[in-house]
Amino acid sequence: MLNFTVGPVMSSASVRKIGGEQTPYFRNDEFSKVMFENEELMKEFVYASDDSRVVFITGSGTASMEATVMNVFNEQDKVLIVNGGGFGQRFVDLCEIHNIPNEEIQLDFGHNITKEILDSYSDKDYTGFLVNICETSSGIYYDLDLISDFCKENNIFLVVDAISSFLANPLNMVEQDIDVVITGSQKALACPPGVSIVVLGENALKRVENNHVKSMYFDIKDMLKNAERGQTPFTPAVSILLQINQRLKEIESQGGVESEIERIANLAQDFRKRISELPFEIKTESLSNSVTAVFCSNALEIVEKLKLDYNIWVNPNGGDLADNMFRVGHIGYLTIQDNDKLIDALNDLEKRGIIHD
Ligand SMILES: *Cc1c(COP(=O)(O)O)cnc(C)c1O
Repeated sequence: MLNFTVGPVMSSASVRKIGGEQTPYFRNDEFSKVMFENEELMKEFVYASDDSRVVFITGSGTASMEATVMNVFNEQDKVLIVNGGGFGQRFVDLCEIHNIPNEEIQLDFGHNITKEILDSYSDKDYTGFLVNICETSSGIYYDLDLISDFCKENNIFLVVDAISSFLANPLNMVEQDIDVVITGSQKALACPPGVSIVVLGENALKRVENNHVKSMYFDIKDMLKNAERGQTPFTPAVSILLQINQRLKEIESQGGVESEIERIANLAQDFRKRISELPFEIKTESLSNSVTAVFCSNALEIVEKLKLDYNIWVNPNGGDLADNMFRVGHIGYLTIQDNDKLIDALNDLEKRGIIHD
């Protein structure tokens, strides 16, 4: 099986090996050491300040989105949410559930945010900004510098959901004044699903400290207190945290975050170049390195045939675009040789008449 979906993705042999072993006991120094390493490497890879802290939540990416919304905002806030697809909508829904006053910046499919759009929200007393910097449903990578400048000028607290773009596109918490970065285990971290990660800068820590959260499991204050000794309040997904440790150290030993981003960027560029002869169209304005949304006729059949006849998985879509678009992920343990196999299969499907204008 060759998996080009956007998560869960392919994992390295050493990561998979850990998944096959017995789960160890975790209330001890050995596990605390692993967690301290995880925290340090996460901070290094997002260029966080020394005073930043990291929490590892057992739950998929949405758990960390929800925990963030609950812990850093309250009813006195007024937040702006970039909504250009399914994940932007999720932030809107979360703010609604938790009574956080919010307004959406609605963008059409695959369209980038512009300075003009942002300027129309200037000087309007917004206190928070939420963006899925790669909106995985279209593959758009929003202009982070533009958003960061806007938030700086207006003194707005910036939360970046980098769940699908961490390790695929560059991001610098200090230079880009990002207060919170969220990511998850099953995207470019290339581990099984089940753990998501929140990196909190100094302002975020202050907000958490001063907020009252009505939740036991999603109380970041409690998580931070436990993390001081390398622990979590409740039993975490121990094996996945060990896999994350393995993976972060692998990346570190192979040249660090920059090399990993370059590796994924090369895979994405290679794929996009090589589909240029096929009757496909790319409509997204500014593509993330993590995923390519491919427009075509017959998308559902293409996805199905790739799976049944070639044992290759790409990401189908639901909704209106189901038969017009599929997505190809470039994250996870993939190589140029894997791209070769996908391109061969697509060329073959064209010969067979399944891919056509
Ligand atoms: C995958 C993803 C999530 C999280 O989804 P889960 O299914 O909860 O892991 C959130 N935001 C973005 C941008 C994503 O790509």
